[in-house]
Amino acid sequence: MLENKIALVTGAGRGIGRAIALTLAGYGADVAVNYCGSEAKAQETADEIQALGRRAIIVKADVSVPEDCERMFKEVTDQLGAPDILVNNAGITRDNLALRMSAEDFDRVIDTNLKGTFFCMKLAAKQMLRRRSGRIISISSIVGLHGNAGQINYSAAKAGVIGMTKSLAKELASRGITVNAVAPGYVDTDMTAVLNDAQKEAILTQIPLGKIGSPQDIAEAVAFLASDRASYITGQVISVDGGMGI
Ligand code: NAP
Repeated sequence: MLENKIALVTGAGRGIGRAIALTLAGYGADVAVNYCGSEAKAQETADEIQALGRRAIIVKADVSVPEDCERMFKEVTDQLGAPDILVNNAGITRDNLALRMSAEDFDRVIDTNLKGTFFCMKLAAKQMLRRRSGRIISISSIVGLHGNAGQINYSAAKAGVIGMTKSLAKELASRGITVNAVAPGYVDTDMTAVLNDAQKEAILTQIPLGKIGSPQDIAEAVAFLASDRASYITGQVISVDGGMGI
């Protein structure tokens, strides 16, 4: 499905990003595994991709730093080739109620989740425009669609990712480049491991399919959007949330 494609996945050493990187490789893509702090985990992801018979490199970059993103795209292009598929997955939380939210925590989440996605979108689009093809897929969240108490910064960033996705889709559609987002619900990763059992139980009652999502659930939607099967889909947000957002 993705043979001869080159993918760059941000934050691919662990969690949802790791599942996306492995799944894209499983469908035939060569993958650049971006990480910020988790070098050993990124290397493990790359080793598993190579074991699947695909090419893989790891590339360190803090997506909130534009110069890091520029260097990352150069390294990927030099070592693997220009990405056909960009997956903006890197993300963080700094939760607090609005009245207690510091400007620093607000900015940190915006810088990583929103601006980091913008920096990578821009660099990918520049290369894809020349080739008149490409796929840009960003991981938003159910929280970007519906809001969540305690996540005013995160919901702003994730709603912003949806706005950027729709705008960029309109800018790039005539050049054969599609731009879409996936909005996960509640997925079992380090990000959600901080919730206590009572909080997890409360969330479960809001999921019609009655179970927590897995990173693989998200990765399959991303792989579909990255494939030729999704060539007539752009500017869309696909919710993968067990019905939580219905
Ligand atoms: P996670 O397990 O906490 O992993 C976060 C990933 O983001 C790590 O690979 C981390 O890399 C990377 N990252 C963080 N800051 C970065 C930076 N400045 N530059 C580059 N990479 C950075 O989280 P996850 O649950 O897999 O989340 C992945 C994405 O899905 C995020 O965008 C998140 O908002 C979204 N999402 C998650 C859920 C959920 O329920 N888990 C729901 C909706 C949306 P290092 O470890 O190398 O620093």
